[in-house]
Amino acid sequence: MSFQFVRASNAAAAARFKSSSDGAMFIAGGSGVVDLLSQNVIRPSLLIDLTGLSNRGIDLTPQGALCVGALTTMAQLAWHENVMTDYPVLMQALLSGATPQVHHAASIGGNLLQKTRCTYYRNSGFACNKRNPGSGCDARSGFNAGHAIFGASEHCIAVHPSDLAVALLALNAEITLEGRNGKRSLPMDDLLRLPGDTPHLESSLAQDELIVSVEIPRLSRNTRSAYSKVDEHNSFSFAVVSVAAVVEIQNGLVSNARLAAGGVAPKPWRLASTEAAILHNELNEKTIENAALAAIQGAIALAHNAHKVELLKRTVTGILTQLAGHQS
Ligand code: SF4
Repeated sequence: MSFQFVRASNAAAAARFKSSSDGAMFIAGGSGVVDLLSQNVIRPSLLIDLTGLSNRGIDLTPQGALCVGALTTMAQLAWHENVMTDYPVLMQALLSGATPQVHHAASIGGNLLQKTRCTYYRNSGFACNKRNPGSGCDARSGFNAGHAIFGASEHCIAVHPSDLAVALLALNAEITLEGRNGKRSLPMDDLLRLPGDTPHLESSLAQDELIVSVEIPRLSRNTRSAYSKVDEHNSFSFAVVSVAAVVEIQNGLVSNARLAAGGVAPKPWRLASTEAAILHNELNEKTIENAALAAIQGAIALAHNAHKVELLKRTVTGILTQLAGHQS
């Protein structure tokens, strides 16, 4: 395979390079892209190196939010003093997957846009609408234990693998993009798309856009947060099911709640019914039971992944029980 390689010195140049060819791709830390190149899953005509851009590091905005440059590494964010003290959900999500080597190489932007671990996507001997639009989806009739129980379509049932994305959805983060027409921001929930009949279109980014930063709102003093992940090997693997919870408690009642699940859908999955079940209530056993049942409303199990429904219920129960005892 041959491709051209260029190094961009700023976001505007990166956007120009990207718009010059349909086959252009960005590379930063390289942990995802190099994997896909070596497996022959992607065939870019042009690779655009983003490591010369300056958007790395973490600043506090005047409102006390964290503004994280997209080239910041997972390790830099996880071990930032404000993250360690104020955002347990974020630190736990960042450190829950991948190896320390990857934590020091992979960028925040790349993590959010990483590709699915669907085995059929990563093996060119199988039909896959995401890799080869219109070719079919062999996962539907194949072994689909790791696939989606929410948000899938007949064209794709893959799940998104990022732990970070799940935490950022629960934290109500905003993503800033830059392209040839300037910058725009969108909520984390709008960054990734459901597959519908175009599973190869995975994000809301235009052809020339890249992620330049992520803004994470300041949390109130009464906020408790945590990330809980069920995986197969208990180290360095992707979530079978995960839950991020950010819950504010005032005078014994939940005054604000955002929960999201990972490993269950093509994008981080907001658990809005669970939030509604705990809002204005005490986090007691009955409330938590109702909240856990609400989390699985609408779940559709495939031939081999019904266990995810029960796991999601139990993970929601566990994390809310933990936050009720405030052992974050
Ligand atoms: Fe491809 Fe999606 Fe089907 Fe996996 S689930 S084979 S990624 S179309």
